[in-house]
Amino acid sequence: MTSAEPHTPCRIAEIALNLPLRHSFDYLIPDALLGRVPIGGRVRVPFGTRRNVLGYCVGLKEKSEVPADKLKAVIHSLDEEPIFTPRMLELGRWMAHYYHCALGEALNAAIPAAVHAARKSRRVQVARLLASPAEALKLADRIFDTSPAQGKLLRTLAQMGGHAPATELLRTAGVSRTSLKSLEKEDGALNVELEVVEDEEDPLTHVEAGLQDPWPLTPEQQHAYQVITNRMTRGRFDVVLLHGITSSGKTEVYLQTIAKCARMGRQAIVLVPEICLTPQTVRHFRSRFRRLAVLHSRLTDRERKRQWHAIRAGQADVVIGARSAIFAPVPSLGLLVVDEEHENSFKQDNVPRYHARDVGIMRAKADDALVVLGTATPSLESYHNALTGRYTLVKLPRRIGGHPLPPVEVVDMREEWRTRATTPAPATTTTTAAPETEAKLFRRAVQGSRVISRKLEECMRESLGKGEQIILFLNRRGFSPHIYCPRCGYAHKCERCEITMNWHRRLGVVACHYCGHEERPPARCPECGGDSIRYVGIGTERVEETVRAMLPGCRTVRMDSDTMKTRTAHEKDLEEFRTRRADVLVGTQMIAKGLDFPNVTTVGVINADVTLHLPDFRSRERSFQLLAQVAGRTGRGEAGGQVVIQTFMPDDPSVRAAAGHDYERFAEQELQMRRRAGYPPYARMARIVCSGPHLEPVERYMLTLGEELERLCRERADGSAVLGPAPAPMPLIKRRHRYHILLKCPTAAATHELLDAADELPNSPS
Ligand code: ADP
Ligand code: ZN
Repeated sequence: MTSAEPHTPCRIAEIALNLPLRHSFDYLIPDALLGRVPIGGRVRVPFGTRRNVLGYCVGLKEKSEVPADKLKAVIHSLDEEPIFTPRMLELGRWMAHYYHCALGEALNAAIPAAVHAARKSRRVQVARLLASPAEALKLADRIFDTSPAQGKLLRTLAQMGGHAPATELLRTAGVSRTSLKSLEKEDGALNVELEVVEDEEDPLTHVEAGLQDPWPLTPEQQHAYQVITNRMTRGRFDVVLLHGITSSGKTEVYLQTIAKCARMGRQAIVLVPEICLTPQTVRHFRSRFRRLAVLHSRLTDRERKRQWHAIRAGQADVVIGARSAIFAPVPSLGLLVVDEEHENSFKQDNVPRYHARDVGIMRAKADDALVVLGTATPSLESYHNALTGRYTLVKLPRRIGGHPLPPVEVVDMREEWRTRATTPAPATTTTTAAPETEAKLFRRAVQGSRVISRKLEECMRESLGKGEQIILFLNRRGFSPHIYCPRCGYAHKCERCEITMNWHRRLGVVACHYCGHEERPPARCPECGGDSIRYVGIGTERVEETVRAMLPGCRTVRMDSDTMKTRTAHEKDLEEFRTRRADVLVGTQMIAKGLDFPNVTTVGVINADVTLHLPDFRSRERSFQLLAQVAGRTGRGEAGGQVVIQTFMPDDPSVRAAAGHDYERFAEQELQMRRRAGYPPYARMARIVCSGPHLEPVERYMLTLGEELERLCRERADGSAVLGPAPAPMPLIKRRHRYHILLKCPTAAATHELLDAADELPNSPS
């Protein structure tokens, strides 16, 4: 009668910990928890000297290899129901294998930390409009001049659908709580009410009353829509690469396919780069989907947790978010959209170093979902997959409204140097440094260099004359990126990183763009004591000042991570520009993407070469993408547009191709080059970085590892090769010395075997 007890719960749980350990650990399930530790659930367990760490149950079994007296017991089970589905666990296993991390680390990345926090209900303040959003907008306009903060609040609240948590409203509008209070007090004439509600309220309900209708699709969009939805309704995994030029209406195609997906009763995830996840984007999606969830880095823990649970409960048809939204626990994924799929920011640069697009493709495969990769400049990996038939390629080759892509003029800055005197020096403005020192530094910084070419100046004057706007792009912030002494050759570098320090004139400091270290600008050479120290090169700050000096009265705004310490600052600056209260927008790559300003008719690239020289086989690809994106910021309206690219390398193929808006030509050239040199997508590469406080042990360890890998490669005889060891391109970061080894292998499997072998070696010295 042994079958009388058919279901004795297992005694042993395999627990994956969020620690860099390749294996999971067995724990005893005590009687009190028997049957209450599900696979895919979270537990608390003792580990090493730590009494209580979070772990994930990844398996249950009867017996352990570990002797019973050595087994420790699970302390606590957090979930009666698994928090990870079997598929998510599978995805975690794949990540652990593919990105060489621990399963616990992979799983930990897949769940927001906020979800682990204890559940506390709290009461929050919610602002609610009593009038309709349309009325409120009118009212907002009326009071704007007398009380701008209140006008702004009212407008923002209307735009948020007339109902929003007070903190979110204040953050979005960028005004203080007192303004909200006084807005409420205005004897009801302003139609705002504050109420206190339980925090547990469904977060997906703060939505506009009136949903916007979809646009009728153009024939090209219609074609793309058909191809995507045909594949989606088959309910099988597939990948469509949507290669649409800037402003070709990709977003509308996403929106309508998502709607179709929702009608099928499945959910969609939309991944966008973090910097594209603006309130504007979210509003756009909100105006189409009531059941929308948003995941981004600015959510509070509480908001994040709420969104996560709502998503899991199937309350969202669409989830839009940055990288980590790929793990959103939607019950039945039908569609995954990766917008700007070529973007580097989908790659996480700490453990686990996953690429959200690639994880997404694996997830979609397991869930029989369709993937749409959308971009104006496909990554060469995706494009290669489309050319070889693995992905379906769909093109949107024309802009909406038939506006042509803008003509691009390439200006040879060598010529400009030979034939022209210096750009007029910007006027001295007050900054935080001592006035004399400041003036001296400043004179030296602007000595003998040209920021804006004659051609670009001409275009700018023309645009301004017609009341149109200008975007100037330079992928380097600060005023001057180099400080050196021509007398002794001294270059001013960060003492922790060995990277040249940048002068930030407004902030009155020199700063390391790697570790953030700041100090006072040296007025004399710290090496030889001479006072001929020079500040050279051009950053965004300097571009802005040059424009102000060249075109007095011209209103500029600058957007880079200096001016954008706060989110609201970003929104404010963009708002200035959008409402044409500013003529010129100067910025780094933050302004290269997604912005849609029809009144911009001149785009200038101050120095196209900034990204070209990075020691990375993808640097040409990055440059091309960046230039193509920037060029896409103009010519979006009736007024047309023009682009001026300044460069010292006018014949560079990526500059040429970008000037001709010719993605195909660029891709063809670059793929040929990659094939010849054996780079991805024709090979797989992996990088091993070792760092430590002392150079010698790091170097010694990497030499040993390099030799061992060389030996393994010879044994394999499959073309796998080791490059290095060599000092990493950034050889010292935060006082840690860095060495790297590159592995180049014919297949992913070969790479993984070699990396696994490297893992088996005794651990690194530091
Ligand atoms: P992309 O994402 O390809 O850069 P967008 O989706 O931003 O392009 O589209 C550019 C502009 O065209 C947007 O203002 C959008 O609202 C508009 N648009 C898109 N599709 C249509 C359409 N079918 N009819 C009219 N306007 C459209
Ligand atoms: Zn530094």
